[in-house]
Amino acid sequence: MSKKRVKILNRNVHLSNLDKVLYPEAGFTKAGVLEYYRAVSPWILPHLRARPLTLKRYPDGVEGEPFYEKRCPQHRPDWMTTAEVVHSGSKRLRYCTITDLPGLMWAANLGSLELHVLMSRAPQPGRPTGVVFDLDPGAPAGLMEAGRIALLLRRVLDRIGLQSTVKVSGGKGVHCWVPLNTPVDFEQTKDFARTVAGQIEKHNPDTVTSKMAKAGRTGKVFIDWSQNDAHKTTVSVYSLRAQPRPTVSAPVSWDELESAVEAGRDDALQFAPDTVVDRLEQRGDLFAPALTLRQTLPGVKPPDLPAARQWSGTKGEVSSLEAKAPAVSLSEYRAKRNFVITPEPAGGAAAEALRGIFVIQKHDARRLHYDLRIEAGGVLKSWAVPKGPSLDPAEKRLAVEVEDHPLEYARFEGRIPKGEYGGGQVIIWDFGRCEVAGDENNRDRTIAQAIKKGSLDFFLDGVKLHGAFKLVRSGKDDSGKNQWLLMKRKDASAHSGMGPTEAEPYSVLSGLWVEDLAER
Ligand code: MN
Repeated sequence: MSKKRVKILNRNVHLSNLDKVLYPEAGFTKAGVLEYYRAVSPWILPHLRARPLTLKRYPDGVEGEPFYEKRCPQHRPDWMTTAEVVHSGSKRLRYCTITDLPGLMWAANLGSLELHVLMSRAPQPGRPTGVVFDLDPGAPAGLMEAGRIALLLRRVLDRIGLQSTVKVSGGKGVHCWVPLNTPVDFEQTKDFARTVAGQIEKHNPDTVTSKMAKAGRTGKVFIDWSQNDAHKTTVSVYSLRAQPRPTVSAPVSWDELESAVEAGRDDALQFAPDTVVDRLEQRGDLFAPALTLRQTLPGVKPPDLPAARQWSGTKGEVSSLEAKAPAVSLSEYRAKRNFVITPEPAGGAAAEALRGIFVIQKHDARRLHYDLRIEAGGVLKSWAVPKGPSLDPAEKRLAVEVEDHPLEYARFEGRIPKGEYGGGQVIIWDFGRCEVAGDENNRDRTIAQAIKKGSLDFFLDGVKLHGAFKLVRSGKDDSGKNQWLLMKRKDASAHSGMGPTEAEPYSVLSGLWVEDLAER
């Protein structure tokens, strides 16, 4: 039995039974599983992040008995993020949420070969981010038949003006996904999916069924619309599957699917873990539209925006941020604002719980930008970062130093009235702890000295951002403001692919996008 304790992004992660063979037919071990999830982490994390997760654990490998674990195990490490979700009948469940690489490694180490997630994110559990059609062939129908129906489904969606993406299940099935990322509820997505599935069945009665009853599926492709439900989980893109040999629920392009179906080639739609890693490195994330594309269902009136909810993850516990008096002058901040009109806080109360935090607010003002704020000395040291943070150490992002903001500004999300200073929408794009390099016991002094020196090394433990960053002063702009460069330092969270500003536009507080807050 091999055991190992590794340090990943400042977390101690205990790994065990690394040589245990989990896929006997392929001789694929626990170490192989962990290595696969590590290799795909830059791409899978944005899809998993903040989503309540059901673990499907195979402690004895794919030939043993698996079990589902919805409740996040009590023996989880104290840094593991969770989210409580209230299901119908006021049943409360505390799920694990995978936020970062240590969390992903912890889950994989439990033998959670398959990662199943809710259709919604924890801050907005009533809002699915897309519609899923789970195409499940009943023998003798197989992957080719499911692929053919997926192509048909795509044409139907196309005709009603909806783009879709597709992934193979890793078994015989095909999952078709319609990205929404706009306000919608499960009643609306489920109705839509049921209607579309029913229409396709009506026109293809010999090859398709949309009925839940197991009988009558022989030789047909079952279009499962019922997954569009607040408490149902679907296997995540890039999750391993517990097949005899390791496969992945991998996205394919529609052209690839079409060619494979035309050629009758099952094998072109089955992906081994290392193939998926190669494909990601060469072609990027084919499933990215699920994260970035905003669409609305035809004829669906968006539900009223829910009031901003409080993040219930253990990380970025915005709910406990209560106020106390700040020490430092906020006169410049106050002089710019009319607090009769703007919903922003005036300052004058601060929060002990906000000590040591950082927040990044996405601010859709005259020019879209990201405001990086780091607590120091009871205020928020602030920089406006036009392009936002990057995870690529080669990308240096301009960060213009701006005036200190009051601590409670870290809680602010909403609309600043037009014509007011900074008029536009603000969301809490990321939030969490910020450690500074050097003497943590004298944090305030360490930061003050680093800012004076023009070089600040810090470590973020947010929802989206993790690991080491650096701010370096580079000069002054025309108006005399200090200009800095914000950089990611090389570590396990550095990545050169699609950046987090693009892949993860939502608020970690409410799940809303800045676009949602724009006046309708
Ligand atoms: Mn701003």
